[in-house]
Amino acid sequence: MSVLAPTPSGLALKSPGCRDAPVLKERGQREVFCGLTGIIWLHRKMPDAFFLVVGSRTCAHLLQSAAGVMIFAEPRFGTAILEEQDLAGLADAHDELDREVERLLSRRPDIRRLFLVGSCPSEVIKLDLTRAAERLTQRFAPRVAVQNYSGSGIETTFTQGEDACLASMVPDLPSTEAEQLLVVGALPDVVEDQLLGLLRDLGVPSVKVLPTRTADDELGIGPNTRFLLAQPFLGDTAAALSRRGARHIPAPFAFGEEGTTEWLRAAAIEFAVDAAVFERVTAAPRARARKAIAAAAETLCDKSIFFFPDSQLEIPLARFLARECGMRPIEVGAPFIHKGVVGSDLDLLPYGPTLSEGQDVDKQLDRCRAARPDLTVCGLGLANPLEAEGLATKWAIELVFTPVHGYEQAGDLAQLFARPLRRREALRL
Ligand code: SF4
Repeated sequence: MSVLAPTPSGLALKSPGCRDAPVLKERGQREVFCGLTGIIWLHRKMPDAFFLVVGSRTCAHLLQSAAGVMIFAEPRFGTAILEEQDLAGLADAHDELDREVERLLSRRPDIRRLFLVGSCPSEVIKLDLTRAAERLTQRFAPRVAVQNYSGSGIETTFTQGEDACLASMVPDLPSTEAEQLLVVGALPDVVEDQLLGLLRDLGVPSVKVLPTRTADDELGIGPNTRFLLAQPFLGDTAAALSRRGARHIPAPFAFGEEGTTEWLRAAAIEFAVDAAVFERVTAAPRARARKAIAAAAETLCDKSIFFFPDSQLEIPLARFLARECGMRPIEVGAPFIHKGVVGSDLDLLPYGPTLSEGQDVDKQLDRCRAARPDLTVCGLGLANPLEAEGLATKWAIELVFTPVHGYEQAGDLAQLFARPLRRREALRL
């Protein structure tokens, strides 16, 4: 039996990583969706859940336009609209909320988990949704568990909605002494199945996922729970799990062949998987991923890239694009840089780009225009103006909505960045 090495030779850096690089911290105007957006992918992961936004017509419009054409006969999210009299304090918003929830749950026996989602208006009038969730839980338990979190744009950027949602569930999970690996984050089902299949093939004993697909899926947390984050924006959830005694396994995120291998390797080391088994399980998908990435890397190699802060995927993606596709990151902006979460990716990201945290959008636009990157990754609001100025852009939100984790998606991930460069090249001809 041979033991897996924590620092495989394949990961030797040619230059120092970015863990200790200086970070430009900005606190100005920012251009990013609010945390309500997470409902669009969370409701697909939890088919027995309902997300009730307590907000305004603006919140309802955001959700409907972000959800696009997904009009269901029985939708799994909606908005309890705070009218003017609620906002002016003339009506008891708690009574109205109770009435709406009662109406919803009597009409929809399929709902087992109800999330009351706070918004800017509910925060401004200081509507206490924690108290509302406790009151409603008492009323509807055990059929429905009612939880609350904030998706408000005052407090959250768009991927933080998922973090807040998952973190809200952790305190209510039962305790367990079982030894288990918990994969944390809402991945598309196909990706989740692939990664769980690989962990099973490696022989990791008991693998669970947060969020569970249904309320009836058993999940406990305890001192023998070790967890791997699937997404780099889950800092609050990681803290909540740690408070329950679970232990975080630091790892690069599963983007690209290298990222996926190192993510799996971190779990394999933790659960003492034999090196030969690891090699046997990962060799074929690694080779497939490398081949798929190579097809796109021809377009990406030596091209410069500039990340505006948006989804918090920026650092792991910059690591993937620099190391596996040969791109040159100029600036890597992220809404937050949590070294406890993205430290392993920072270690691997070659030293050189400006790391920026937070945003002052005008200053950052000036830096971007001065750098004239080959590709700019940014939010929808900035993409069109930058395209008009002759810069190729990639919408950051697409990276959250598209399956991009794991070996089988590594080629698609690289192609997502190659496509805008090819399109711009074709327009030039
Ligand atoms: S939560 Fe705030 S930022 Fe988000 S849609 Fe509602 S009002 Fe707008």
